[in-house]
Amino acid sequence: MAQKYELVVGLEVHARIKTKSKLWCSCDAYWFWKNPNENTCEVCMWFPWALPVLNEDAVNLALKTWKALNCDIPNFSKFDRKSYFYPDLPTWFQTTQFDEPVCKKGFLEVYVENREWKKEKKKFWIDRIHIENDAWKLSHTSNWTEVDLNRAWCPLMEIVTEPDFRSIADVKAFLQEMQKVLRAAWSSDADMEKGQLRADVNISLRPFWQKEFWIRAELKNMNSFSEIEKALKYEYKRQAILLDSWKEVVQETRWWDAVKWESTGQRWKWWAADYRYFPEPDLPTILLSDEKIASVKKCDLPTEKYEKYQSEFWIKEIDAFILSSDVELSQFFEETAKISWDSKKSASWILSEFIKFLKEDLIKISESKVKPEHIWNLIKFINNWEISWKIGKEVFEEVYKTWKNPEDIIEEKWLKQNSNEDELREICQKILDDNSDLVEKYHWWRDNLFWSFVGQTMKATQWKANPGIVNKILKELLSK
Ligand SMILES: [Zn+2]
Repeated sequence: MAQKYELVVGLEVHARIKTKSKLWCSCDAYWFWKNPNENTCEVCMWFPWALPVLNEDAVNLALKTWKALNCDIPNFSKFDRKSYFYPDLPTWFQTTQFDEPVCKKGFLEVYVENREWKKEKKKFWIDRIHIENDAWKLSHTSNWTEVDLNRAWCPLMEIVTEPDFRSIADVKAFLQEMQKVLRAAWSSDADMEKGQLRADVNISLRPFWQKEFWIRAELKNMNSFSEIEKALKYEYKRQAILLDSWKEVVQETRWWDAVKWESTGQRWKWWAADYRYFPEPDLPTILLSDEKIASVKKCDLPTEKYEKYQSEFWIKEIDAFILSSDVELSQFFEETAKISWDSKKSASWILSEFIKFLKEDLIKISESKVKPEHIWNLIKFINNWEISWKIGKEVFEEVYKTWKNPEDIIEEKWLKQNSNEDELREICQKILDDNSDLVEKYHWWRDNLFWSFVGQTMKATQWKANPGIVNKILKELLSK
């Protein structure tokens, strides 16, 4: 990408708040398995006599996110009607928040990989967050359009950032971090494929020396990290070509076509519309006392965990990154490290073995029956030289499949390590006798041959020999 112009991006992130019911009625907020329009009532079909009632859970869950994003939370906020027409909004207005949002000025610190592949900590500012309802769903077929009200009035948080992003890497890292934070705060599943996390991307270019922002275009409803990356690359090129030829970038809403890999302009000019915001007459204001705001605990942020795992738990950077990026994974790791007093081995078992099985079965940690105690027990056996690392892997596989205690599995399968010196001495002697030609060369090829003898002895004992004792015996025998 030519770097003649500086990229300037601001984001409007829409996240589904993880409530059981919708924002203004008691219909189910999770409707995926239901038939179209089955999940509706008089309120979410907006019958004139039906009145909305605010779902308190939505506010309580959102509060956790606001705390995580270091926001100012005012005691007072209200809902407003934003009037506009679109076929998925037959009420002709959306209930949202205009001048008194529930949350102002926050920030999120994110590690962004720079050009030298090093992670650099950056702070991105959030202008405001408000609560609003989702629209209806339209599915277009070749002949007609189907309307489904199942998701109508589901609760959303809209997180509006400052235009702080200067590269595609900034945007991607921020959105990925936002997804982790929403999950860490347990306020949204933030699953992009299910439309629980979507972003409107405002993009403009300007010469590097310019301070003012130039005219921007808005890419609507992006719901995949990779598509956002492609769309931003495309938009950068499109706007750069316009600016190079002294043409104007038009302020407009654009839609990204993931099949054609291009964005197209929207004929309607939304920004020119007067939304005629006015206070929502059917809903009360939200009043949050200081005590209420103070009572919500801030969750541990993924970036904080990432730093802590490296500095306090001595975990490798890449491992710390993986462990901190998933809330369930990090909880499991911390519990294991706490009871085992061995953070490095805990991390190693979780990342090299446990995750492998979870990925194979496509399940989450909470869906598996393996407990931190299982891994701690396994580490104990290995640390006491009672089983080798290799046998440990077999035991773990059994643990994963049967949820039995490692101790019982070891007892049952006689996997305990052989530490009988006389027996091992005999086996070692046999290995050396069988390889008498190599033993003669031992003088010249010391290290390589030594480890080959160790390996053969371990193999001969089906990896049950105590490697420490095998080392000792072989050294004795070879020095004779
Ligand atoms: Zn309803």
